[in-house]
Amino acid sequence: MAKYEWYDANVVDIQNETATIKKFYLEFPTMTNFDFTAGQFVMLDLPIDRKKKTREYSIASCPGTGNVIELIIVLNEEGSGTPYLFDKIEVGSIIKTSSALGKFVLPAEIDKDVYFISTGVGIAPLRSMWLDMVNNDRPHKDVYMIFGTRHITDMCYPDEMNEFDQRDDFNFLPTLSREESPEWTGRKGYVHAVYEELIGDGKDAYFYICGWRNMILQARDRLLEIGYDRKQVKYELYD
Ligand SMILES: Cc1cc2nc3c(=O)[nH]c(=O)nc-3n(C[C@H](O)[C@H](O)[C@H](O)COP(=O)(O)OP(=O)(O)OC[C@H]3O[C@@H](n4cnc5c(N)ncnc54)[C@H](O)[C@@H]3O)c2cc1C
Repeated sequence: MAKYEWYDANVVDIQNETATIKKFYLEFPTMTNFDFTAGQFVMLDLPIDRKKKTREYSIASCPGTGNVIELIIVLNEEGSGTPYLFDKIEVGSIIKTSSALGKFVLPAEIDKDVYFISTGVGIAPLRSMWLDMVNNDRPHKDVYMIFGTRHITDMCYPDEMNEFDQRDDFNFLPTLSREESPEWTGRKGYVHAVYEELIGDGKDAYFYICGWRNMILQARDRLLEIGYDRKQVKYELYD
């Protein structure tokens, strides 16, 4: 693994995103800016009773915006780290946090359309990449944010994404696999049908896929079968 440093980060805010997902805001008091590239993650070193005490979390916020980063974390009741974060961490807590790591980042020149494909909190690094394009004026082509989850109540950043969808260069394409309520009039099913319909026979594009193993590996295999080069299909596995 690349070299990294450890810092004491202050938890300055915690917000509920859904019943099982929280956003944690970490401040690095010794810095004016926390240096990272959109798409990277940090490790949290947690005082849990397990051999491996570190847990990785993608940074969901925009780079270059100061010394506070946003993480979006889903509770795994069977796990050790997330129950600790949800039950023991509060505003004012200090978490030992690494410098930014990872190679799941945009190309230097974004010269093709970008398809972001995620499920659940896998949207975190993709949101950061999109915010980087918009807020840091990175030239780009069209962006498709394909997001899958089960129910309306599980959606991450729905209002913000719907607002971005008003732009000509951004398309928010949520799809819900188990929503039965008449309130939901959008797409149903899994993410695969959504990107397959959009790319047809193989529109030139970059793909960034993030989330849990099954969805990612299926998407990667389908895209490689269509004929995309491995360099165009980047993914980050959460398990
Ligand atoms: C690069 C990267 C970025 C990530 N970004 C995010 C993110 O932005 N948001 C997010 O929510 N998650 C993210 N993750 C996942 C995150 O790192 C954790 O894996 C996740 O939060 C679960 O941690 P936990 O400590 O609660 O579960 P763990 O304690 O790691 O347990 C995970 C699972 O293993 C099983 N298990 C654990 N211990 C045992 C045991 N002794 N015997 C049998 N089974 C066991 C449990 O059933 C549990 O379901 C990311 C992962 C990576 C690799």
